[in-house]
Amino acid sequence: MYLKSLELIGFKSFGKKSELEFSTPITAIVGPNGSGKSNAAEAFRFVLGEQSMKSLRGKRGEDLIWGGTSEVPRSNRASVKAAFDNSKRLLDIDFDEVVIERVVYRDGANEYFINSSKVRLKDVVELLAGANIGSSGHHIISQGEADRVLAASPKERKHMIEDALGLRIYQYKKEESLRKLEKTEENKAQVEALRKENAPHLAFLERQVKKMEKARAMRETLVGTYHEYLKREENYLTYERESLSGLRAEPTTQLERITGRINTLRHQLEKVKKGDAEREHLLDLERQLVDLRHKLGEHTRIVGRIEGQLAFEEQRLANEREKAEGQEGAPVPYKEARKFWEELTRILDHAHREGEVKPLRDAVKAAQTLVRKFVVRHKAGGKGYELDTDTLDRLRLEKTQTESEIASVTARIAEHEEDMHTLSNELELRKDENREQERELFTLIAEESALRNTLGQLDARATSLAREEEDFKREIGEGIALIGRDVAAYKAYDLTEAGVVDFDVEEDRSEQLKRRRELEKMKIRLEEMGGGNADDITKEYGEVKERDEFLEHELRDLESSEQKLHELLTELDRELNEKFEAGVAAIGEQFNEFFTLMFGGGSAKLTVVQQRKRGKIATALFGDDVPAEEEDIEQESGVDVEVSLPRKRVQSLMVLSGGERALTSIALIFAMSQVNPPPFLILDETDAALDEANSRRYGDMIENLAKKSQLILITHNRETMSRAGVLYGVTMGVDGVSRILSVKFDEAAAVAK
Ligand code: ATP
Repeated sequence: MYLKSLELIGFKSFGKKSELEFSTPITAIVGPNGSGKSNAAEAFRFVLGEQSMKSLRGKRGEDLIWGGTSEVPRSNRASVKAAFDNSKRLLDIDFDEVVIERVVYRDGANEYFINSSKVRLKDVVELLAGANIGSSGHHIISQGEADRVLAASPKERKHMIEDALGLRIYQYKKEESLRKLEKTEENKAQVEALRKENAPHLAFLERQVKKMEKARAMRETLVGTYHEYLKREENYLTYERESLSGLRAEPTTQLERITGRINTLRHQLEKVKKGDAEREHLLDLERQLVDLRHKLGEHTRIVGRIEGQLAFEEQRLANEREKAEGQEGAPVPYKEARKFWEELTRILDHAHREGEVKPLRDAVKAAQTLVRKFVVRHKAGGKGYELDTDTLDRLRLEKTQTESEIASVTARIAEHEEDMHTLSNELELRKDENREQERELFTLIAEESALRNTLGQLDARATSLAREEEDFKREIGEGIALIGRDVAAYKAYDLTEAGVVDFDVEEDRSEQLKRRRELEKMKIRLEEMGGGNADDITKEYGEVKERDEFLEHELRDLESSEQKLHELLTELDRELNEKFEAGVAAIGEQFNEFFTLMFGGGSAKLTVVQQRKRGKIATALFGDDVPAEEEDIEQESGVDVEVSLPRKRVQSLMVLSGGERALTSIALIFAMSQVNPPPFLILDETDAALDEANSRRYGDMIENLAKKSQLILITHNRETMSRAGVLYGVTMGVDGVSRILSVKFDEAAAVAK
């Protein structure tokens, strides 16, 4: 015996705590109408997890709770505990006694406990299903429900049979698998939706990453190009700088030398300019010469005039002398002699002073002339006669003097001419020399200008070199700004190693400019690609990609579990069908046996039938009123009952009498219980419609059944009561509370019909 006891607190009419103990195989519960017997049977349904309010004869959870009377106040909760002996591990739980409890509150909330631990309904249902105790209640036949197995549709009947066969567990498993399948499909749809939602972002990031990779590759190429360009440029600049300073060296020293020489020459020529004073002197001499010559001419003219005057005077004197010829021997007046002496002395003195030959000679000549004139004048002798020679003397003196002047001027002219000759010779000589120097100077100036020109060109090259060097530095700076410090590594770049074999510092500059333009183009392209934070995008891409892969993995997992669930379902179906068909066959046999026993003949059988059924879609669309043409048909199986009464040709269940129906139902219910006996069976007035003879047969079957299942019978039937080991009476006093008490058979029989 498995069922030990049932405790009710506040359940329906059991306003006070009541307990039923089941210590015998058959327990009968008796009592007057309305005392609460069926409530006790329902308490079983309730505690075993019944969810149908209809089966519990209520509308809401509240209806199950003691409603209260003027004597006993209402309860807030209804609780039912069923205790099982689990020493044989009827229930798959490691306790010798298992108490299942269900509590319902006024707000409709339910609580379940297994051995006082709060559990879910599912836990209770599963635990019981494993022991062939189902809430659907093939083992609890409510009042008037015996017929249900006959009235049911083949499909419902099939369910009842499955239940009785303990195949419900398969249904649960199937349902759970289906639920899982549904959940899996939902998850799949969700994951697919997530992936779909992710896809554009992923694609976008993928594009970004590709773009970035392209940019990175381009950047690398650019770094290479930069290195080559910068290395070349540096080589070029170094070469150019060195060659420029080399080129400058020679013209610079040359220029220095030439400038020095030019300065010297200029200095010298400057000095020549000072020679102009000598030329001035020469001119002065010339001017003086002209003056002297002029003077000479004048003196010569004076001498001429004097000579004319002399000639005239001498003629006049000669004339006078002729007149006075005869008067010869006249004394010479002293006065005249003295004058003569003075004159002579003067000339000689002069000659003496000059000390030179010419003036001396002139003086001698002048003295001779003076003496001769004196003699001539005094040849006539002096007898009272005397010639006036004063004018003549004066003229002669004048002449002498002028001639002496002439001599002196002539001498000076000669002297000047001599000087001039010398000077002009000197000047001439020097002029030649200057010309030579000037020629050199001109040549040197020309050379200097050429050199300056050359240096100027070199300067221009240096300026442009400086500009190029500036550009070079700027280019490095720009490169670093754009692509980072890698650019600066160009120094270590080996052109030959890098395969740049055409490296030549003297290559046409336009080649390098071409490279520069290419570099610029690449820079622009790189800039156009835009930066965006590469790290962020890569990171985000990684995350999104990882998520997508995770989802893909998830999807695969879901698909695989979907597949497994399908397989499981197929397997469950197969097993279920197998067991079901075997079970139906066994029940059918028992059914026939019980039936013939009950009716004293005839036959009964069960057949598994395939039925057409309204499809889910049509049902969903039209409910029960599916138009015939809209019916989508699915096959479903069911169980049909066929009976043949003895001596009657009745085949249809519809035409059976109330008693016949009751007997047929009982036969079927008992057959079901026989094949897979439940631990206990509760029959609420199943025997109500039986006559005496059938009551006895019913009693026999019950005793038979009780060997396999514990029976709790609610009955008014005396025969049935007589088979019970323990009788409980249920009474209800004026307080409306159902009470349970053990009764004796006789007491019980008193309330029986
Ligand atoms: P019968 O022999 O006629 O079938 P029974 O003994 O099976 O009668 P039940 O149907 O079990 O009687 O009990 C019905 C009684 O229980 C009614 O009197 C009803 O008022 C009472 N009852 C049902 N629910 C509650 C409740 N929530 N609170 C109080 N009383 C209730």
